[in-house]
Amino acid sequence: MKRVMKFGGTSVGDGERIERAASLVAAAVARGDLPLVVVSAMNDTTDDLLAACEHARRGRHDQAAQAVHRIATAHLDAVRRAVREGAVRDGLLSTTREQLGELEKVLTGIAFVGELTPRSRDFVLSFGERLSTPILAGALAARGLPARAFTGKEAGILTDSRFGEARPLVASTRHQLRERLGALVESGTIPVVTGFIAADQHGTPTTIGRGGSDFTATLLGAALEVGEIELWSDVDGLLSADPRVVPDARLLEELSYAEAMEMAFFGAKTMPPGALEMASEAGIPVRVRNCARPERTGTAIIEAQKVHAGSIVKTVLSIRKVGLVTVSGGGMAGVPGTAARVFDILGEARANVLMVSQGSSEVNITVVLPSDAMDRAVNALELGMLGGGAVREVVREDDVAIVACVGAGMKGTPGVAARVFTAVAGAGVNVHMIAQGSSELNISFVVREADADRAVRALHAEFVARDAKG
Ligand code: ADP
Ligand code: ASP
Ligand code: MG
Repeated sequence: MKRVMKFGGTSVGDGERIERAASLVAAAVARGDLPLVVVSAMNDTTDDLLAACEHARRGRHDQAAQAVHRIATAHLDAVRRAVREGAVRDGLLSTTREQLGELEKVLTGIAFVGELTPRSRDFVLSFGERLSTPILAGALAARGLPARAFTGKEAGILTDSRFGEARPLVASTRHQLRERLGALVESGTIPVVTGFIAADQHGTPTTIGRGGSDFTATLLGAALEVGEIELWSDVDGLLSADPRVVPDARLLEELSYAEAMEMAFFGAKTMPPGALEMASEAGIPVRVRNCARPERTGTAIIEAQKVHAGSIVKTVLSIRKVGLVTVSGGGMAGVPGTAARVFDILGEARANVLMVSQGSSEVNITVVLPSDAMDRAVNALELGMLGGGAVREVVREDDVAIVACVGAGMKGTPGVAARVFTAVAGAGVNVHMIAQGSSELNISFVVREADADRAVRALHAEFVARDAKG
């Protein structure tokens, strides 16, 4: 069976882990599978590259150079530990050094000009996956397996030119992936492809959004019609809450694509929800598994009809680093198009709206936005809406968080909302805004950021822990 095996940042975090990933691929081959491997940047390399870009932009060349030095040490060390065979290792050490030299030059250029464009940032970010991927390919080759490293561009992943959040052009990508990798996989060669990075139609490197390697995995899986997509990570699977907030969070053995998409949207695993849409449309099961405990089967994300019933609320999540903006004014009542105008302005300001609520009296519209979009969104709303008569004020509230309960069992079960808000009130947490998705797969609301963990724990105790006992 063809199988995508995607390894996240921690799963290729050092030489030993890359070795372990290679052994998991080798085991799949030994079972008769035909794997396609997708690799993320090692650990926090993407964050380190982002920080290096900022240092360079501010002209702090020495700090950017220090970041490159740390990245260099980690990668050269990983090559030495993960790739045992002498000739493969020596070749890889020299190409890795060349790439690191190129990275240093690019950052020097940015520092010199003092300008960082989204395009040059994406070029710098592309080094993360371009450095890590050949090491896993080398570790496989050193075991005598026929592996071949590809960048997303070489494999055929084509996107638009929205640097930083580029969207794959699905039809062309599918065609090219089939053409370039199809026969290769069938013949037993293992393509090892960079996650997260691709190229636009001019061949310029792009990145497809944070956590994008999962998306690369499902693109490949859908194009090559694999039997299963495995996302190898550092957790046993998707859990009933973030384990850092609820230490006794439970493993969810099965979830529907729709439930997992809601979870992805609300921040469990930094996975783009679009990734699961690809798998869902193609009907390919996705399995989240733990590299450190490969004997466990993880979480299967499958079609809703095949999911066995679980608790009403399966998981409780929170999104931090968000803010609220309320646009209000008595003159908004009954004036058509005010809401459309608000969303137009937010779209132009590239502020991604996470939640919306409108008072039934129509005198206010409240939206939840990522914190880093708050300044530009509020400025744009003030410029675009005030002074026209209808809108009296634009008010912002920072330091809030979204808390969400997700589970298909909420649909058609009366009284869930009452239980949710009683539990939250019982924990002494004040709710600022409420929304329920039309899918009825989630109930989400906004609280002060400082209260978010308390609300999550109260809801986990009310629903997940209790349903498990009863
Ligand atoms: P990878 O690097 O393998 O892609 P991510 O860092 O994107 O992994 O996602 C895994 C992390 O997501 C875990 O280490 C865990 O801390 C965090 N996480 C947050 N909420 C959840 C949840 N509900 N279930 C599983 N993991 C979660
Ligand atoms: N390296 C990228 C990131 O950190 C992509 C990924 O890990 O999926 O966001
Ligand atoms: Mg990830």
